[in-house]
Amino acid sequence: ADCADCAEGPSGAHGLDCARGQTPGRARLFPIEGGMMATAGVSSDMIGGPDLCVTGMENVIAFFDSIQHQSGVRMVEMMACAGGCIEGPGIASEIDSWTRKRMVTAYALQTAAGFPAGSLPPPSPAMLQVAFARREVDLPEPTEEDIRAILARTDKVNPSDELNCGACGYNSCRDKAIAVFRGLAEVEMCIPYMRERAESMSNLIIGTTPNGVVAVDRELAIVSVNPAFEQVFCVRADDCLGKHISVVMDPAPFEQVFGTRETLRMEESHLGGSLMAAQSLFYVSVRDVVVAIIDDITAEYNRGQAIQKAREETLEKAGRVIDRQMRVAQEIAGLLGETTAETKLLLTQLIRQTQDKELSK
Ligand code: SF4
Repeated sequence: ADCADCAEGPSGAHGLDCARGQTPGRARLFPIEGGMMATAGVSSDMIGGPDLCVTGMENVIAFFDSIQHQSGVRMVEMMACAGGCIEGPGIASEIDSWTRKRMVTAYALQTAAGFPAGSLPPPSPAMLQVAFARREVDLPEPTEEDIRAILARTDKVNPSDELNCGACGYNSCRDKAIAVFRGLAEVEMCIPYMRERAESMSNLIIGTTPNGVVAVDRELAIVSVNPAFEQVFCVRADDCLGKHISVVMDPAPFEQVFGTRETLRMEESHLGGSLMAAQSLFYVSVRDVVVAIIDDITAEYNRGQAIQKAREETLEKAGRVIDRQMRVAQEIAGLLGETTAETKLLLTQLIRQTQDKELSK
């Protein structure tokens, strides 16, 4: 139907659809269960009728699984979302589904009033025909042993290990194992398994790193420490967990990182100066904690301090030697000046006496 068929025309109450030159009429029933058949003017009589309406992925799959037993069925309307589009994943309405269904029905019937059934020209027979070719894929069938071996690769050894959560996109762990056998899925698509593996790997790293790691919540209470932290700060986890960070470290850098949310790198002394640490503090938004990674650089720091001290002592000694040298040089210069003056005086007297003798001749 288009505006030419509509009594209201493009400026009528059919609104946007008319503005687009279209009047969907009964097609507005499409979002509800059975709406497609109603749009097509086909009855979806649920009691014994030849036309069926199946909604929801599980029901659709179950229907296909039992299709060979479905005799006398003429037409099947299938929708992935149980209840139709009004129950789809993008619907965020707070209106309950029955009210939504009634609203859609009322609106569709109201706007379809100008189009009684049979008022449109019937489709040509060619439009109602479609041919399907057999395109069945011959997939290999795994044995029970194959399935168990694939399940074991994601640590599913007992039936209780099979969570059947559907996070991989398959209805059950067995279905996914079969898909892996057929080359249609990857073992790593099991989300709980990959998550557990990632967590155990990060736990292993945090548990074995030589760097101390401490996490502090917004109240500056210690929520986690690793074994290296216990060793470096000479404290047991049981004794510091839940306590204020000030029992082991200066809280100021943690407060700063909570305020700025910027990574802070610094060197700081702890335990009354007996521990020198190079530390990085950063904010972790998903947990609202600040984590500090602490590298014990005490030995290196002490070595640097000793070298600095030796350097200063050497400079001081060199300064003293130079001072003494200067004094000696000044004394030598003084003595040299004195003897030079005496020599000069003596030679002058000698010259004068010689001159006097020459004149008296
Ligand atoms: S994600 Fe993993 S646990 Fe969940 S159904 Fe798939 S295979 Fe099973």
